[in-house]
Amino acid sequence: MPKLVFILLVLFTCRLNAQEHCATDLENQLEQLHDEDFANGINELNKLSEEFEQLMTPSRNGFKEITIPVVVHVVYREEENNISMEQIKSQIDVLNRDFNAENDDIEKIPEVFRGLASSAKIRFQLADKDPYGNFTQGVTRKLTTLENIGTETLYHQSNRGGSDPWPQVHYMNVWVCELEGNTLGFALLPGSKMSERDGIVMSPRAFGTMGTAVEPYNLGRTFVHEVGHYFGLRHLWGSDDESCSSTDYISDTPTQLKENFGCKSFPTYSCPSQPNGDMFMNYMDYGNDSCMLLFTQRQVELMQLIVKTNRSALFHSSGFTGLDQLQTPEVKVYPNPSEGVIHVEYSNGLPAFVEVFDVLGNLVYRHLPQSRIELLSLEFLSKGVYTMRTEMEFTQIVIQ
Ligand SMILES: [Zn+2]
Repeated sequence: MPKLVFILLVLFTCRLNAQEHCATDLENQLEQLHDEDFANGINELNKLSEEFEQLMTPSRNGFKEITIPVVVHVVYREEENNISMEQIKSQIDVLNRDFNAENDDIEKIPEVFRGLASSAKIRFQLADKDPYGNFTQGVTRKLTTLENIGTETLYHQSNRGGSDPWPQVHYMNVWVCELEGNTLGFALLPGSKMSERDGIVMSPRAFGTMGTAVEPYNLGRTFVHEVGHYFGLRHLWGSDDESCSSTDYISDTPTQLKENFGCKSFPTYSCPSQPNGDMFMNYMDYGNDSCMLLFTQRQVELMQLIVKTNRSALFHSSGFTGLDQLQTPEVKVYPNPSEGVIHVEYSNGLPAFVEVFDVLGNLVYRHLPQSRIELLSLEFLSKGVYTMRTEMEFTQIVIQ
């Protein structure tokens, strides 16, 4: 049997037998096998996450709060799963509270970890403008005949029983629909190339704080976890190989062997090198909703980096009426032309990257800005004209 077919078979069998409550790892692996562009995008996401972990120092400031337009596609086979607007709003409220560290139960975090709890400065609101410019409540509803449509990869296709996404660069798409087995949800990771399934898929059993939501997943925190994936966060234990050397690319979460379910007591140890044990109360573990309490500073910084890179189009979203969030960091370069040593001055916040391309479009230099004015040494480049990119800004530089 060809290797690819074998891998696909194994993965599909895994999906059928999935007892995981978050299917993000599995669904992203499947999507990478189906879509080469997406697979390349995930490789780039991994590289970006590695650079972040190794090179970017903590406490970067200058992240301006962003509000992200959300569209919820309710795809239901049984009327009870045609969830109410109130239930949807209860979920958006939890998301805003937890992403901004405004949860009252933050005091339940063990003292050794409490200082790490951080606000992502990311807010969410149901879109009030649809892709055609019409007023909307940010919710679509679709009756389907397909069982477990969230597990079949059809939830995002209107003509096959699902509901088409709104343009994913401008809206965070959420499908609330039946999922097979114990799966509560999953999200597609933000590679530099998006999957056409990009967004978050949630079971009605774990969405919002009322109606169809069922204990112990009725406090809205499974969705907080999935939105963490949507912004590039991984599970605390890294990959599923049950090894203490696998990484989540985040330096302030302790290394962890595997998932923790339920509500653990502090301390809980899984990797011997970690003096305080597992951070089982982190949103990126698998605890009960009542026991998930924080994102750390570095998790928040990685999500903010993703907002500024792979998901930067959300800054320009047309999903809200009369809201212009556009705030592109501006850059001044001097002297220009130069002999290769240049000052770069940023205003409107630090960009995530400075990249320099040659005339053929090859990336020849990449730098992660650390302060408002910097000296860059590009003497290694041969004489010529280059393009410097800082997020959405392009500046021509000449080396002579
Ligand atoms: Zn997950």
